[in-house]
Amino acid sequence: MSALSKILRQPAPGRLYFWCPGCKDAHQIQHGEGPGPRWGWNGDAERPTFTPSVLVRSGHYVPGHEAGGCWCAYYAEHPEEERDFECGVCHSFVTDGQIQFLGDCTHALAGQTVPLAEFPEGWGC
Ligand SMILES: [Zn+2]
Ligand SMILES: [Zn+2]
Repeated sequence: MSALSKILRQPAPGRLYFWCPGCKDAHQIQHGEGPGPRWGWNGDAERPTFTPSVLVRSGHYVPGHEAGGCWCAYYAEHPEEERDFECGVCHSFVTDGQIQFLGDCTHALAGQTVPLAEFPEGWGC
């Protein structure tokens, strides 16, 4: 894992992590040549632009996830348990170091545009 800047990390060639201030978690994209979905990256580690948009679904928002048996159902029944997983949708455009969250996000920053956040101290080490 190499830190390209405070807001971009490269876990492997052709892969990038950025820290999402909406999910408070890292999202990964792939760029360049190779299998799987690929994004365009402007090559700028300080003010990155990715195209097209980045859509991350987790838990029961993943297409094909069966109803019931989700972590969130477990948490709903066990409110005393500490949650380390949230089901959700995060849909964003990263442009010029800013992240624009679209209205279909399930987190609190839906519909807002904010600067990309720095990785937390020690993350991924
Ligand atoms: Zn996110
Ligand atoms: Zn769920």
